[in-house]
Amino acid sequence: MDNKLQIVPLGGLGEFGMNCMALRYGDDIIVIDAGMMFPEAELLGVDVVTPDFTWLEQQKEHVRGLILTHGHEDHIGAVPFFLSDINVPVYGTPFTLALVERRLEEHDLLKTAKLHEVQPGRKIELGPFMIEFIHVTHSIVSAVALAITTPLGVIIHTGDFKVDPTPTDNILFDLHTLADYGRRGVLLLMSDSTNVDRPGYTESERAIRPRFEDLFNRAERRMIISCFSSSVHRLQEIIDFSAEYGRKVAFLGRSMNTTTEIAHDLGLLHIPDNLLLRPQDIMQAQPSKVCVVVSGTQGEPMSALSRLAVDNHKNLSVEAGDTVVLSARIIPGNEKPIYRMINHLAKRGAELVYGTMNPPVHVSGHASAEELKLVLNLVRPRYFMPIHGEYRQLAKHATLAQHLRRSGLEETFILETGDSLEIDRTGARKGDKVPVGRVCIDSGSLDEVVEDLVIRDRRHLSEDGFVLPIIAINKHTGRSETLPEIVSRGFVSFEDGSGLLQEARQIVHRTLETSTNEERTDWGVMQEKIRADLRRFLNKQTSRRPLIMPVILEV
Ligand SMILES: [Zn+2]
Ligand SMILES: [Zn+2]
Repeated sequence: MDNKLQIVPLGGLGEFGMNCMALRYGDDIIVIDAGMMFPEAELLGVDVVTPDFTWLEQQKEHVRGLILTHGHEDHIGAVPFFLSDINVPVYGTPFTLALVERRLEEHDLLKTAKLHEVQPGRKIELGPFMIEFIHVTHSIVSAVALAITTPLGVIIHTGDFKVDPTPTDNILFDLHTLADYGRRGVLLLMSDSTNVDRPGYTESERAIRPRFEDLFNRAERRMIISCFSSSVHRLQEIIDFSAEYGRKVAFLGRSMNTTTEIAHDLGLLHIPDNLLLRPQDIMQAQPSKVCVVVSGTQGEPMSALSRLAVDNHKNLSVEAGDTVVLSARIIPGNEKPIYRMINHLAKRGAELVYGTMNPPVHVSGHASAEELKLVLNLVRPRYFMPIHGEYRQLAKHATLAQHLRRSGLEETFILETGDSLEIDRTGARKGDKVPVGRVCIDSGSLDEVVEDLVIRDRRHLSEDGFVLPIIAINKHTGRSETLPEIVSRGFVSFEDGSGLLQEARQIVHRTLETSTNEERTDWGVMQEKIRADLRRFLNKQTSRRPLIMPVILEV
């Protein structure tokens, strides 16, 4: 039978984050990465956005496995949600899987998950697919590209990468293997487009050394450095500088502690003996002998750095003369909370180092244009499909590949999430659309998939405010003996004693009085009744629909 190959992006193409790619040959399906996306501001209060896996669920008996390229959130963040629906074997490097394990543990899925470690250079076989893991350099350690041999030819998926000629762990990008595949012929290349706008080459992880050296030389008091906890290269640099300049290192923040522990256990992070300082000992140590590494570069409200900024961390007070370094990119959309945090730290008299300056305190993990061309030239695919990026980046990456037309490139396909590409013996073409979408999840919990209704509620909350009727019920008599109180925010400014408020209190009171004894023993019913009556009243009086949340107190 003549089977066709189907390439189906379920996330990450034409959008930023939540990378997920399905490949199907005949009936057999494999999936590459299951990432999440941090929600945009209009998704009020939603914590996590993941791809909609419905298309896969409908044929889950055919899904052979989930393969992870590396441990960044936009590649593994949705794994728990994926596995709770489609519990197939998961393949990744040991570090990637250790990060996944932590996530699965939080969701109580670790016992049922089937995790398989694969070292770079090794191959696995899943149905008609033979998959080789190829080591690449990226801002996280243990990242791989995939060479997937199918009955129709080889597909290369780069994952995220840059071509770092001097990685801090000295484990080089396996360009040889990539070139070998290129020489033997590659059917399709899918390559990371994140930094296609940047000309030239992305700096090596080591490019931060001159700036860090200068900072360590000049700092007379504490060094406080914030970076992504998954940036093991960066952490190694900080540890090495601290050791060299006689500073002890303390880690603050949960993610920072777990990731450094994982990386240390796997031998990916080298920490000299006696270098570590316990967080509770920071304030006792001589400030010139301390380097504190904290998580929270993006101004996340509960992060260690945010708490330091408002002097609300139990282990450390930032003091005048301390140096605070933000060794990370400011992710677009996060500017406000980040600058607010920086302002707070500046008010505390700290010297702040952040943003793009030369020499840099942060370098990107993604390949710039020349590196992308290098990979294109080594692989010389018959078909090319840019991945990981918004449409403009995919389009630009497509034009970068034009020169390969004379070297065997037949066609470049720009696909967005939900499109599909079909390849058979006669060639490649765009195929049918598949159902895709985004799933919004509250508080990172599996059960709390936010319905559209909730998001609508939240929009009301932001536009019309909320009203909180507070009802005190005597637990012996089941009756409310005082008139209910009403608290509101963001709703029409009705001051205490105003007519509307008084009337609203009467409405709630009447609802209580007219309810049966049985209704009154069921809080759920009472809350619903109060909400309905009050909504009708307020809507009629003000034409607005605030979020109404009755609170019933037993007294
Ligand atoms: Zn990524
Ligand atoms: Zn990445």
